[in-house]
Amino acid sequence: MVTSTIHEGRHFLQIPGPTNVPDRVLRAMTRPTIDHRGPEFASLTLSILGRLKQVFKTTGPVIIFPSSGTGAWEAALVNTLSRGDLLLMYETGQFAHLWRGVAERLEYEVEWIDDDWRHGVDSERIFDRLTADKEHRIGAVAVVHNETSTGITSNISGVRRAIDEAGHPALLIVDTISSLASMDYRHDEWGVDVTVGGSQKGLMLPPGLGFNALSERALQASASASLGRSYWAWDPVIEANKSGFFPYTPATNLLFGLDQALDMLIEEGLDSVFSRHARLARATREALSGWELENLAISPAEYSDSLTAVMMPEGYDADELRRLILERFDMALGTGLGKVQGRVFRIGHLGHFNELMLMGTLCGVEMGLELAGVPHKKGGVDAAMRILAEQG
Ligand SMILES: *Cc1c(COP(=O)(O)O)cnc(C)c1O
Repeated sequence: MVTSTIHEGRHFLQIPGPTNVPDRVLRAMTRPTIDHRGPEFASLTLSILGRLKQVFKTTGPVIIFPSSGTGAWEAALVNTLSRGDLLLMYETGQFAHLWRGVAERLEYEVEWIDDDWRHGVDSERIFDRLTADKEHRIGAVAVVHNETSTGITSNISGVRRAIDEAGHPALLIVDTISSLASMDYRHDEWGVDVTVGGSQKGLMLPPGLGFNALSERALQASASASLGRSYWAWDPVIEANKSGFFPYTPATNLLFGLDQALDMLIEEGLDSVFSRHARLARATREALSGWELENLAISPAEYSDSLTAVMMPEGYDADELRRLILERFDMALGTGLGKVQGRVFRIGHLGHFNELMLMGTLCGVEMGLELAGVPHKKGGVDAAMRILAEQG
């Protein structure tokens, strides 16, 4: 193996995904691969699908693809829309931008609402655009729930309300790749038609699985969507899943891991998982205030509980700080993406993560700020400790 870094103790993987994989999940994945057409595999699939629905908070089908999140983005579009259909998308940040690229390469027409990367989706702008679309040309509204490039969470039930109040038939498609299983998300209750997920963030698995959760309306749309599709087609998966199988070879060992990860989430209880992330996120923000560094997110109602994007003081390079922290303390922090490259670094606090892992992370950041000569106030770490040591 070629590596310039010698790891002693645990590497700190504090990028906002892929996240730290629990030992229990890693061990489960080292089991010998089994026959994906045999009885043991069928019962594994059926048991996974039942619990996965609880995580998406849906009673409808959840499709598992052996894919990156990008594949699950593509699947959500090609199953519901026909060539030339119009898609309404919102510029929350780099992931929204990348998803738009996927849509355009698939030859959909995209109407793009621009914003400044410091705010979530403004439902009023969605409402206005849908109200103006008298001919109902817009086939779907596609938005990112938790924008991983900015640390900003959008109000999805607000987007649903905007669509309903406009009396518009557009489908609602939502990317939850960095929120699912770390932050509250409700596919059915929020009236989402397709929820896009990925394995490598809140679900605590390595990269390699993509998910689509579907509403009844999404299924109806897939019956008339005319774009050719094969690998990403939902129907054959739904059909094969009825008996616990897949139409092609699934990622068997990732499914062994998923089985454990779902057990862990259900044992802890989803509400406890969410409040743990809320507490760790609040302590992270306290550290920022202590350092007198600015959060890229402006509105407290939109602060993400899965990651925080920290703005560098003018004239200081975030990637230089990240490089130094990796070299000295063996901790990886998230780089600034797209428009905010070099201007922010991102602290991932999602997935398999606890108080002392957060304190190690924040200590690494504070020491890094000192070593890199970045102007800041001392005491961010202390401020975070005060939050974590609060009674009850
Ligand atoms: C990570 C991420 C993706 C991309 O997933 P890949 O597995 O890299 O294709 C998409 N959207 C969001 C919000 C993400 O955080």
